[in-house]
Amino acid sequence: MDCIFCKIIAREITSDVVYEDDEVVAFLDIAPINPGHTLVVPKLHVKDLLAAPVEVAAKVLTAAQRIAPVLLQVVGAPAFNCSINNGAASGQVVMHLHVHIIPRHLSDRLVSWQHGKYGSGEAAALAQRIVAAMPKF
Ligand code: 5GP
Ligand code: ZN
Repeated sequence: MDCIFCKIIAREITSDVVYEDDEVVAFLDIAPINPGHTLVVPKLHVKDLLAAPVEVAAKVLTAAQRIAPVLLQVVGAPAFNCSINNGAASGQVVMHLHVHIIPRHLSDRLVSWQHGKYGSGEAAALAQRIVAAMPKF
């Protein structure tokens, strides 16, 4: 399969692996937003969070939860962003599920999100439509 992360998992191309178990691999992002920026990926090729069996999603998130404090300690960061891009419009470029763990510093000046505003009644109407569409899980 022509997937760069599958090739990293198979060691067909090199990367700086920081953690591995039976289901998950974590390696340093080649183009870090901050030093220590790490990608946590399932060994199973799934394109994004929606395509992942729940057990796979749970394993990846559990690994991210365990790896993050170690990264923070090593790079001396007090905080991190943990994000998953799902679909090209969200910024996803590599179509193999991955969790970004990005160490953050108060002084790093990165802008996380640009917040918008709802008009009057707009949020309530939207929430109502979402609730109506929500299945029983
Ligand atoms: P996305 O935008 O798909 O959420 O993130 C993909 C990430 O993978 C990017 O941050 C990019 O720098 C990283 N990346 C792409 N190719 C490689 C690679 O060959 N090796 C490593 N270590 N990271 C990569
Ligand atoms: Zn893959």
